[in-house]
Amino acid sequence: NEELLINSEKLYVAGQLAAGIAHEIRNPLTSLKGFLQLIASGRKETSYYDIMNSELDRIEDIVSELLMLSKPQVYELSYYDVRNMMRDTVTLLETQAILHNIAIETDLGRDVLWVYGVENQIKQVFINVIKNAIEAMIDGGAIRVKLSRENDSVRIRISDEGPGIGQDQLAKMGQPFYTTKEKGTGLGLMVSYKIVDNHQGKIEVYSQLGRGTTFEIRFPFRYPEMPAAMKSS
Ligand code: ADP
Ligand code: MG
Repeated sequence: NEELLINSEKLYVAGQLAAGIAHEIRNPLTSLKGFLQLIASGRKETSYYDIMNSELDRIEDIVSELLMLSKPQVYELSYYDVRNMMRDTVTLLETQAILHNIAIETDLGRDVLWVYGVENQIKQVFINVIKNAIEAMIDGGAIRVKLSRENDSVRIRISDEGPGIGQDQLAKMGQPFYTTKEKGTGLGLMVSYKIVDNHQGKIEVYSQLGRGTTFEIRFPFRYPEMPAAMKSS
């Protein structure tokens, strides 16, 4: 009954995703095959190799983003201070930002922001959202990252000065393979939403065309080694 329904729904979603993946990977494969045939028939243009290389890159991008959806090989569930994770993420993306004339301004707040989860996955969410902000701000500007504690949750706000997102587009965010970029995979947000959900978190997007975009992510505040009796759930 209800459980069966939920399961068939899950199967349906998995089927949709599988169809999407198959489709997205078949395109570059078909193209690769075509170029191989051309080369085999004696036509050897160096430009073929560039195209083939970028088709292979595309498959690689899709596969490595999808890998984030699978369960981590080694479960390293632990308590982390979001401030440290964000500091690492910003350090990682800083050169890329500078190359795009973008400054990342971080306000880490005053509190220790404990969350419980898989470090690499949570960092991946921050990376995906900040990367999108960088890619959106073609004219440069500032990305503002603000962390704070709000009652029982840790709040992460990432705001950009990009072109913003229209209402109709906003509804498609997080759908697999939805992308407006020439070299996009359209998987970054879907993977991020899934990770946040797995961590009992929430992710919200506020945006208006011409006004930039704000991603608001919340994770439950989980104090390390809190005595069982004090846990609210
Ligand atoms: P990708 O980055 O590969 O396109 P994502 O899932 O990360 O895939 O993002 C999906 C789409 O959402 C992007 O192609 C873009 O159109 C839109 N988007 C995401 N973040 C932003 C942002 N900060 N500003 C404007 N558009 C965005
Ligand atoms: Mg992206």
